[in-house]
Amino acid sequence: MKVSTLLQKGQPAISFEFFPPKTPQGEAALFRTLHELKPLGPAFVSITYGAGGSERHKTIVWAARIQNEVGLTAMAHLTCVGSSAEELRDVLYQYAQVGVRNIMALRGDPPKGSSCFEPVAGGFRYASELVAFIRAEFGDYFTVAGGGYPEGHPEAVSLEADLHNLRTYAVG
Ligand SMILES: Cc1cc2nc3c(=O)[nH]c(=O)nc-3n(C[C@H](O)[C@H](O)[C@H](O)COP(=O)(O)OP(=O)(O)OC[C@H]3O[C@@H](n4cnc5c(N)ncnc54)[C@H](O)[C@@H]3O)c2cc1C
Repeated sequence: MKVSTLLQKGQPAISFEFFPPKTPQGEAALFRTLHELKPLGPAFVSITYGAGGSERHKTIVWAARIQNEVGLTAMAHLTCVGSSAEELRDVLYQYAQVGVRNIMALRGDPPKGSSCFEPVAGGFRYASELVAFIRAEFGDYFTVAGGGYPEGHPEAVSLEADLHNLRTYAVG
């Protein structure tokens, strides 16, 4: 199910967000928790994407489990950190293959100790570029969500500039 379809009902919606567990005990606890929360009827359950390494694969695994084993609508987070457009395309194909149709497209944070985000060669500088890429490559197959910051993103030069960028994001 696409979240955009659910939101067309125009009614308040709740969702839950989890990070992929790191241990077998954590996996069992998340699975149990998801089943306990299911009767509350969340519009979707989102699963975060790590800064790098093998943990990232777990986002795909858990989005698929939420969707296909638990029977809730999954929203998979995806960031531009450390990935070229080609690598991101590959991840998106994996989501399409397991039936996940909702992507939270984000830029990601600079590495610890650095205040400046540096894209990899062939990668993206801003979340809006990732959104435009998803649209260009996959049409409207995915509902694409993004992050907004009511208090302004910490790197934004001003609240007005941040709002302008958020708008670019939304139409990107
Ligand atoms: C709901 C939510 C979920 C998140 N989940 C994750 C997650 O799973 N994993 C993770 O690593 N991080 C996650 N984050 C954190 C996020 O990656 C960081 O907050 C990151 O610093 C910014 O990401 P963004 O997608 O908002 O970036 P962007 O929208 O790219 O914005 C980043 C900065 O660049 C500016 N900007 C944007 N476009 C332009 C432009 N064209 N020109 C100049 N400046 C521009 C913006 O104003 C902002 O200051 C999440 C954040 C939110 C709000």
